[in-house]
Amino acid sequence: MSSLLSRRQLLNVAGLAALAAALPRAAIAALTNKAGSAGAAPVPARAPSVPRRVLGKSQLTVPVISVGTGAGQSVAVLRYCLSQGINLIHTSTGYAAGRAIRNVGQAIKGQREKVVLALKITWRADDLRAFDEALKQLGVDSVDLALFNLHDRREVKNPQYAKAAERLKKAQKTKAIGLTTHGDMAACMQEALDQGFYDVLMPSFNLTMKKECLPIFERAAKAGVGIILMKTENGLGALTYQKAIPVYLGLPGVATINKTITTFQQCDSLLSAAATPAASADAHEVERLARLTLAGHCTMCGACVAACPRGVAVADLVRCSDYYLSRADYVTAVQDTLAELPPHMGPQACTKCGTCERVCPQHVPVCHHIQRIATVFG
Ligand code: SF4
Ligand code: SF4
Repeated sequence: MSSLLSRRQLLNVAGLAALAAALPRAAIAALTNKAGSAGAAPVPARAPSVPRRVLGKSQLTVPVISVGTGAGQSVAVLRYCLSQGINLIHTSTGYAAGRAIRNVGQAIKGQREKVVLALKITWRADDLRAFDEALKQLGVDSVDLALFNLHDRREVKNPQYAKAAERLKKAQKTKAIGLTTHGDMAACMQEALDQGFYDVLMPSFNLTMKKECLPIFERAAKAGVGIILMKTENGLGALTYQKAIPVYLGLPGVATINKTITTFQQCDSLLSAAATPAASADAHEVERLARLTLAGHCTMCGACVAACPRGVAVADLVRCSDYYLSRADYVTAVQDTLAELPPHMGPQACTKCGTCERVCPQHVPVCHHIQRIATVFG
């Protein structure tokens, strides 16, 4: 992959379009050849325009591709995404040990009104001081979407979240409230819809989950609850993922795919894919490949967590090993996730009884993953 920025990319990122006419072509060529350190690559002759959709009753208008910041990617990449119309940014204080939220704050400086900001709440729901601290790091007075991060139906049922949502909206710290979930997802989403105060659902989703999730998406669409999909590339290679994007965007209620975009090239590829209509032959093939490639990989259904007699955070540990450790970009995410786990839920608490592995519908070698994490990070 080339590490050089294209002329268009440099101008977009730096906001130098107005200077383009004034600079001799040779000077621009010199700048563009020196500026690249964020993984630039050949780009289409013209930036594809981003289709936009309304995110359910939140009334936020969002691009069909949005950017997640789990990798704590650079300010330059975030600004490039913004320059290409990808103006929904999802972040949290814990991502990349705080680097992500700081970079988002820098990237949106001077253009807050153009950005749709989504903030995942990882602190106690009623802790307004922690919320204010996150706003301070972003350099803003409010976000557009605040997301409770819950992975257990009993937690979603807890009335403290409805109260916190009301308080946050009343204090004008957020326009909309969402639920983000990657464990026991179907049950969590159903419960959120039962609760009635959620504007948005943000599940971890891939095409092997259609059977259990589509009826929920349809229910959400009827109730005006917008859907943001995350972790959609799980198990698909880059080329198949290109074909999968229009398929995901054709699902009921889906407004946007949130993706951790770490290079200019990735941004351009995602936009090209989003501009391509879904072909029905592709949909079948992509689903077939997803089923094949995800066999033996975690789909974050949460069955193992419910079955573990020791209360180990089984799905989190599997995610760290099976998903995060497959990419060098995410090693920090593993360390952050492990640091957040109390010792009684970590790998050392596992007695190797094997119950989790026996209940896993994906036949994931769960014990191997727990052992791997214990060996590498224990
Ligand atoms: S390891 Fe298996 S049971 Fe556990 S969350 Fe993943 S897919 Fe579900
Ligand atoms: S093997 Fe470990 S993680 Fe799995 S159910 Fe038993 S104690 Fe829990």
